Amino acid sequence: MSDIVVIGGGLAGLACAVALADRGVRVTVVEGGERLGGRAASWTDAATGDTVDIGPHVLHSEYRNMLALLERLGTSRLVCWQRDPLLTIACKPAPVHLRHGPLPPPLSLMPSMVGAPGLSLADLMSMSRLSLHVMRFGEEEIDELDRISAYDFLRREGVSPRMIDWWWRFAAMVVTNVPLDRSSAASLMRIHAQLSSYRGLHFGFASVGLCELYASQAVRAIETAGGRVLVGRPATLLLGQSAMQGVRLADGAELPAGRVVCAVPPQALGPLLPDHWRGDSAFEILATIEPSPYVSVYLWFDRHIDMPRFASHLCTPARLNYDYYDLTQIRHGWQGRPTITASNIIYSHRAKGMSDQQIVQATVRELAEIAPQAAAARVVHSAVHHIPMAIPCPIVGFERLRPAARTPVHGLYLAGDWTRTHLPCSMEGAVKSGFTAAQEVLADLGRPAAIAVPPRAYDGLGAIVRPLAAPRRTFPRRP
Ligand SMILES: Cc1cc2nc3c(=O)[nH]c(=O)nc-3n(C[C@H](O)[C@H](O)[C@H](O)COP(=O)(O)OP(=O)(O)OC[C@H]3O[C@@H](n4cnc5c(N)ncnc54)[C@H](O)[C@@H]3O)c2cc1C
Repeated sequence: MSDIVVIGGGLAGLACAVALADRGVRVTVVEGGERLGGRAASWTDAATGDTVDIGPHVLHSEYRNMLALLERLGTSRLVCWQRDPLLTIACKPAPVHLRHGPLPPPLSLMPSMVGAPGLSLADLMSMSRLSLHVMRFGEEEIDELDRISAYDFLRREGVSPRMIDWWWRFAAMVVTNVPLDRSSAASLMRIHAQLSSYRGLHFGFASVGLCELYASQAVRAIETAGGRVLVGRPATLLLGQSAMQGVRLADGAELPAGRVVCAVPPQALGPLLPDHWRGDSAFEILATIEPSPYVSVYLWFDRHIDMPRFASHLCTPARLNYDYYDLTQIRHGWQGRPTITASNIIYSHRAKGMSDQQIVQATVRELAEIAPQAAAARVVHSAVHHIPMAIPCPIVGFERLRPAARTPVHGLYLAGDWTRTHLPCSMEGAVKSGFTAAQEVLADLGRPAAIAVPPRAYDGLGAIVRPLAAPRRTFPRRP
């Protein structure tokens, strides 16, 4: 039917297939699970009939690839944007509302941290060297910074221990999904640059189930171009010697294909590789991947609870949940209902051994610190999702091993949030990886196209400093 197979029906695989379909290429997508969406899936909660996501997801206004995909699929209006505050941080005696102030990026959030409980002006000032660094930061530094932990890097930049404990332990956990001491300085610095360098950057949430943003619309686009999407059909082996010849599925069927885009998580790629390709350096990362597990908790209360739409606890060793979302302020048609919350236990090893009931009780207690009315409310229903991997942990050394879309095997391409996108592992990274793989396929078909969207040049002070710093080094060092 088609010469091009995409394995994996998550955001990366579907973005790739849509990009190819839009250029008239017939693609077969094979998805092993019973539904599309992978780690950005959603489904109907059986007890309530409500659509829940695998876990709450946040996007932001610089998700240029993801927003381009949603624009293409006609669903960009289904993002619920939160412009102000950027985020509410629960702390005593009063919450801190992070908002952009009158200073230019990357300093715009600083004024809202002045007076944060436990932080002195000296702690804030200890960020000066880091702020200067972020203005000139670029991808050419990634390989070097990937050798050290984010903690060691911050100390080297002169950030005070109190600032590290208050802000950076939290920031590392929520944005890199791994503790600060283990996070690659490169991974953290890239996200810090992305979040702090753009004027008015703001977060958004799906106002419908995550999958409803893209899955059925992507299938329509693929089928319109003559392609097909096979769900519940896991691939078991890539076929070929020196070049791709096809894909074997678990039911024994073989799909002949001279070009295959593998858009599966790293753990799923290893078993697909025939022995003669395993030793290739492109696949070196597979032996080192460490998953960052999540537990996502959905709570249906018997009454309305006053709470911010999006709030977070700071990081302490005993704390389970960081980010909390009031879905009745996010989901279309849920306004006016008794409160329904979602929250994430990130890097959830500390919840191991707890029963779902204990997790729910702890989640309500922690919510009550943000929204005191939760303590007196009754939970009428709960759903606890145990997720083996939200993203691969970007630990020290991770960035250097991320493979490019083009592999040494002729006709085999990689996509997925974990590949070399020059972005964090995220929905945006997944979509960009899919677009990049589509570009490579099209280039090999002799039909070059520019699809993946690069990050914008920095706003504010970075717009002045970065161009002065950038020419001093060359980029990229690796493909
Ligand atoms: C709870 C949670 C919260 C998150 N929060 C955020 C957030 O706030 N912001 C953000 O940007 N990102 C967030 N992420 C990360 C984001 O969801 C992922 O980065 C992204 O969805 C990865 O997409 P992908 O297509 O690369 O991989 P996946 O979504 O894993 O897709 C791979 C697909 O391949 C399929 N597959 C695997 N093996 C085979 C096989 N052998 N044959 C056929 N198919 C196969 C899988 O079933 C899956 O559908 C979160 C993730 C989770 C789980």
